[in-house]
Amino acid sequence: MRRVVIIGAGVLGAATAHHLAGRAEVVLIDERGVGEGTTACSFSRLSAWGKRPDWYFRLNHQGMRAHAELAGAWYHPCGTLLTGSAADREQAARLGYAVSWSDQDALLLPEEGWVDAPLFARSMASGVPLLNHRVIGLRPGAVELDDGTEVAADVVVNTAGNGAPEIAAMARHELELVASQGMLVELDFPAHPLRHIVHTDDITVRPVDADRLLLRGPHGDAHLADGAPELLRLAEKVVPALAAAEISDVRIGSRVVPRGGLPSIGAVPGIRGYLHAVAHSGVILAPVIGARLAALAVEIPCEVGVHE
Ligand SMILES: Cc1cc2nc3c(=O)[nH]c(=O)nc-3n(C[C@H](O)[C@H](O)[C@H](O)COP(=O)(O)OP(=O)(O)OC[C@H]3O[C@@H](n4cnc5c(N)ncnc54)[C@H](O)[C@@H]3O)c2cc1C
Repeated sequence: MRRVVIIGAGVLGAATAHHLAGRAEVVLIDERGVGEGTTACSFSRLSAWGKRPDWYFRLNHQGMRAHAELAGAWYHPCGTLLTGSAADREQAARLGYAVSWSDQDALLLPEEGWVDAPLFARSMASGVPLLNHRVIGLRPGAVELDDGTEVAADVVVNTAGNGAPEIAAMARHELELVASQGMLVELDFPAHPLRHIVHTDDITVRPVDADRLLLRGPHGDAHLADGAPELLRLAEKVVPALAAAEISDVRIGSRVVPRGGLPSIGAVPGIRGYLHAVAHSGVILAPVIGARLAALAVEIPCEVGVHE
């Protein structure tokens, strides 16, 4: 069996490890714990709504279906309420996305939901050896760690999230990410009435459990300056009952956004034994990216190194 070393134990690395079970000898390396990178600060909504182009919508929809099949304790298919533009409705109808009318005069998207991303990552990585180290170099057939040791590798998988460009550079590959932060605001609201995710252009609200909710602001960093109270004010306009909620936690996460916004997945021409995956919407896509990387990892030419 070949030895596949996965650098980065977020949702993407963990899902890849899961799909490699029994097909390769797998080692995960992460300088933190499993699911403690961007995965720990994710809104984790499962949705393909409004995603362009059509192939990217289909890929996200496929990710949602894969989550529905896995359906572990991390999976919460609660549906989303939204209004949606005419163009988004047309796309959803054309591409077979389930849509119905709710009793609140909004669209209900019953296939949508959210994932407890750290729990998903820990479950996918369960039973896979984890080396708790920082990777500082790659050389043919081995990965170099910050304690001076080396780990033998026939194939290296770079799923290091925001650390992926640095690992790519070690393989002499240029990988560019765009800096993008996002704020999540957790609310205490004992016995809140929210049964679905509620989404508008300005704000998305989802349940965490029976007594807590999570808010995400619009894409882009503009709202960070206004802070959590401004996000709560925006959310109250959409769900007036939130006037009874209190802010209990505020987190800022760094999205993993490839230049152009679309995911980059697979082998890199000219570099042997090396695969990568960087994706925003990584939680939705993790099961399909993990399956794809695992299939490639057992079939590509072995031993890491740049072709001369
Ligand atoms: C605010 C916010 C909201 C989001 N909302 C959604 C959403 O609704 N739906 C959705 O699908 N996605 C969402 N995302 C995106 C999603 O969370 C990410 O795409 C996903 O978590 C990325 O996972 P990953 O495995 O690629 O990276 P990470 O989770 O960051 O994992 C990479 C790991 O690599 C490790 N690492 C890096 N460099 C090294 C090194 N040199 N040596 C050893 N280890 C290293 C890190 O410690 C880290 O644990 C959101 C993100 C944010 C920030």
